[in-house]
Amino acid sequence: MHTLFWSCVGLCCAAFLMSAAGGCATGGQRGATKSWALAIHGGAGTLSKTAAPEMIAEYEGALRVALVRGVKVLEDGGSSLDACETVVQTLEEHPGFNAGVGAAFTADGTHELDACVMDGSNLACGAVAGVTTVKSPVGLARLVMTKTRHVLLAGAGAEEFATLQGVPRVPNSAFDTEKRRKMLEEWRAEQNAKTSAAAPARALHTYGTVGCVALDQHGNLAAATSTGGLTGKRWGRIGDAPIVGAGTYANNATCAVSCTGTGEQFIRHVIAKTVSDRMELAGESLDAATRHVVFQTLNPDDGGLIAVSRSGEIAMPFNSEGMFRGCANSSGRFEVAIWDKVSKGRGLGVTK
Ligand code: ASP
Repeated sequence: MHTLFWSCVGLCCAAFLMSAAGGCATGGQRGATKSWALAIHGGAGTLSKTAAPEMIAEYEGALRVALVRGVKVLEDGGSSLDACETVVQTLEEHPGFNAGVGAAFTADGTHELDACVMDGSNLACGAVAGVTTVKSPVGLARLVMTKTRHVLLAGAGAEEFATLQGVPRVPNSAFDTEKRRKMLEEWRAEQNAKTSAAAPARALHTYGTVGCVALDQHGNLAAATSTGGLTGKRWGRIGDAPIVGAGTYANNATCAVSCTGTGEQFIRHVIAKTVSDRMELAGESLDAATRHVVFQTLNPDDGGLIAVSRSGEIAMPFNSEGMFRGCANSSGRFEVAIWDKVSKGRGLGVTK
């Protein structure tokens, strides 16, 4: 049902855009607007390369839908913050990604969601951690930023704030999906195998997460991240996504960053802020700074990140097998990818 809905949305969206743009986007055909750039991710948890083409198309279509919505905000002269919130909310609603509907299960079989937004123009930021009934954690994170003097609200307090703000609520089970339940069962089996010495064939890639970074026509950068965290997490565990500077960061002086992967590693190395610091203090390019943290600071298979610089460069490095991602800019770039091969243009091509 969900899958069918999203496939239809993807098809309609792509068809509309192709007719509006006369086919796949090409550089320089939109007139002289101020530049903007956008990158999105749907997590570093991988889909098998041998997955059914329909499944690959479903994910690529979902990324395209989110990208299209973000592009529209930026093309219309909207703010990078609005673009980020729009994209992340779109992905929170898609059951295939580990955020909102489709969030990972905790060890207890429930969902605890984390999210963050940051405005690079003034370093304003807001985050929530361990929320259980908030339909859009990223939306609540933005309200923390705009309506409180605090940065991070967690657990019961964040839920109370959600009630005061009147944001849409859902039962915790509304975030359930069969895919994530199966992952919880696999995780439990792995735990049992460990204690019975029958080691599993390979480690489970139990992460996911969604994020967006953007540069708007006004020169402002923003970042947003939302996640269900790690499958089997315990004891109120909070990941990197809502930790400003770890999983999410934006600063007009440098760049905007959103991370995905083993949160503990991104917290330990303060990855998002380190990218910014390397640019600001060491004069590195966005590409060099992001490659350094992903390939030299982090361990193989820890995950990846998306980043946009103040001048509109885009970087999306990852050290996991794949990372759901996409990007677009005012020069006509528009692409989505899961593994190495990139699917360009706004059409419905499937990446192999
Ligand atoms: N980084 C997230 C966390 O550790 C998980 C993910 O990116 O999938 O909570």
